[in-house]
Amino acid sequence: MNRIDKKSSCADEQESDTLTVNQALRNMLNTVEEKNSNELIHLSTAVDRVLGKPIMSSINVPSHCNSAVDGYAIRSVDLPHHGEITCLPIVAQVVAGHPYHGSLNSGECIQIMTGAQMPDSADTVIMQEHVELEGNTIRIDASHVPGQNVRQAGEDIQAGQVVLDAGTQLTPPQIGLIASLGVAEITVKTRLTAAVFSTGDEVLGFGQPTHEGCIYDSNRYSLMAALKMLGCNVLDMGIIPDDPVKLQQAFTLSANSADIIFTSGGVSVGSADYTKQILSKTGSINFWKVAMKPGRPIAFGKINDSIFFGHPGNPVAVMVTFYQFALPCLQKMMGIDKPLITPLIQARCTQPIRKLAGRTEFQRGVLSRGKSGQWHVSTTGQQGSGVLRSMSDANAFIILNHDQSSIEEGDWVTVQPFSGLF
Ligand code: AMP
Ligand code: MG
Repeated sequence: MNRIDKKSSCADEQESDTLTVNQALRNMLNTVEEKNSNELIHLSTAVDRVLGKPIMSSINVPSHCNSAVDGYAIRSVDLPHHGEITCLPIVAQVVAGHPYHGSLNSGECIQIMTGAQMPDSADTVIMQEHVELEGNTIRIDASHVPGQNVRQAGEDIQAGQVVLDAGTQLTPPQIGLIASLGVAEITVKTRLTAAVFSTGDEVLGFGQPTHEGCIYDSNRYSLMAALKMLGCNVLDMGIIPDDPVKLQQAFTLSANSADIIFTSGGVSVGSADYTKQILSKTGSINFWKVAMKPGRPIAFGKINDSIFFGHPGNPVAVMVTFYQFALPCLQKMMGIDKPLITPLIQARCTQPIRKLAGRTEFQRGVLSRGKSGQWHVSTTGQQGSGVLRSMSDANAFIILNHDQSSIEEGDWVTVQPFSGLF
């Protein structure tokens, strides 16, 4: 017969020895463990760090009742009845940071500024825009309610309260919250150290002489950028040629110095793809065909105590596999208790998309809201796994589920908006 027996490959509709995206992710999450070490740092350097211990408050915030506006502090018993006007002489002025210790009698008021401590017997503040000033007296009507415009002591936080749980990755408002407690030093989890290298004879670093068939290394930079944004220490291990000895050295060196190793390229079945053969000696690594596009071959496992994450070489595949697999693993290793989950939303696809059932596809899309308020998504043009432009133009993945086949224009699709990371 004039026919060649084809081995299983990514061109097949269904391959026998593949994992689904969810199976692969589950396996990975079962392998990685939280790094258990803490350090004490100053709050001014704490953005993106993960709390190693909860933050408790030893004080009330605010510590005293204070005015929420510029206006006049009064006793609520002096508020006029319906249809009446009351006149109250101003007996003192109080500004923030300078409490007033005199008395406030019924029938009087004290001019008060925002943040100033409420005088003892006052319980209500009338905004300065809501009074009529006549010499040294204010006139107020019956439109006010007792207790208005006063911030109560402990209204934000009460002494003894747990303010933030361990495992919180700190954001600017949370850092402000900790500062509001007067806490300068906090216990955070030690940063993860990630080693990153690219592999391939064709892969070129900046300033290296170009040669036929070469390409500039983009993967190392996109990976290092994502890892830095996540708050990892990054070790740049450079570009390693398709040379088993040099690769072996790079694996060993990385495993000695990093909690997690990221590589790209060399994990498929090409003749120059040595990773598999070397790692079968060095570590316990699995080579998975994941039923997904892009990103089908992935190597994952351990070299000594380091997690090894071998991305495929194609730049878009690197980004997709990083986002879908490495990100949740890193968050577990970092001890983040509420991983950054980008909620999936349903949107109408503005174009048909061809797809084979039996694998999950991560098309790169632009999500926007139409005039009617409905979400629409379109692809960013050419979707080849080497077309990095498709990723940089996108703001979301269009996730075409495992069992789904082609999409028609106007069909609902699942969309995963990029988190702040991409
Ligand atoms: P590989 O997985 O090594 O077979 O590579 C798959 C494709 O990705 C090839 O076209 C490579 O040239 C390309 N590639 C591999 N590494 C990189 C890199 N670091 N930056 C950009 N493209 C790469
Ligand atoms: Mg290669």
